[in-house]
Amino acid sequence: MSNLLNELKGDPLFRKLRHQVGRAVADFGLIAEGDRIAVAVSGGKDSYTLLLLLEELRRRAPISFELVAVNIDSGYPGYQTAVIEGFLRDNGFSCRMVPTEHYAIIQEKRRPGSSYCSICARFKRGALYTAAQELGCNKLALGHHADDFIETLLLNQFFVGSLKAMSASMLADNGVTTVIRPLVYVAEADIIAFSQQAALPVVCCRCPVCGTADLQRKRMKRLLKELEQDIPHVKSSLLKAISNVHPRHLLDPSLRRQDTLAG
Ligand code: SF4
Repeated sequence: MSNLLNELKGDPLFRKLRHQVGRAVADFGLIAEGDRIAVAVSGGKDSYTLLLLLEELRRRAPISFELVAVNIDSGYPGYQTAVIEGFLRDNGFSCRMVPTEHYAIIQEKRRPGSSYCSICARFKRGALYTAAQELGCNKLALGHHADDFIETLLLNQFFVGSLKAMSASMLADNGVTTVIRPLVYVAEADIIAFSQQAALPVVCCRCPVCGTADLQRKRMKRLLKELEQDIPHVKSSLLKAISNVHPRHLLDPSLRRQDTLAG
């Protein structure tokens, strides 16, 4: 199995991340005996870190479960799937590399001025669900981390008018695959430090909007950074807020109805 994991044994940052993932798995019941989990690996820092942490957990867990790394190649010219596949195979991971024509379809179908990301992400998610089903996986693990949860919470409040973040575990729209997000307690800063320390072979998606997309999310990142100067624990407080909801103190009429019925 993973050569890199043998080298990382005893590393304090890796142990910290392993502990946080273990806590998330326990808190949200993310993994059960007999699970076969497709792990989405894009070649970015988050997905490599997720895969390594899940494999470390798998080795230590008292229950038995399986992992399969899945990579979706959207077809952006220059995307280095060989680097990703090399890393996965060198470290003993089962993997499925999925080439697609998404880029060509997006070029053809996208309306001028419309967002690249929404259609690209939708195609990618669909391909991941299909691959997970073909591989006999009942779960799909995604590399969203604590900062993603917090930024999504703020984005929905600031721009959508909705009190909503992400779920650590939920049944996907296809009705058969459970999506899990085991990095919910892991800070992006720690993932960046870990990926550099472990020299993970991070590759760029090479899409036309790479690095310039999602300006609103970048704005949330800047805002949080500013807030942290005065309120150092602001991110942990916001993350805690998502799991400490008081429906009676909100304005959603459907929550009020539920409350009345329960009473
Ligand atoms: S940043 Fe690029 S690869 Fe990512 S969702 Fe947007 S278009 Fe797709």
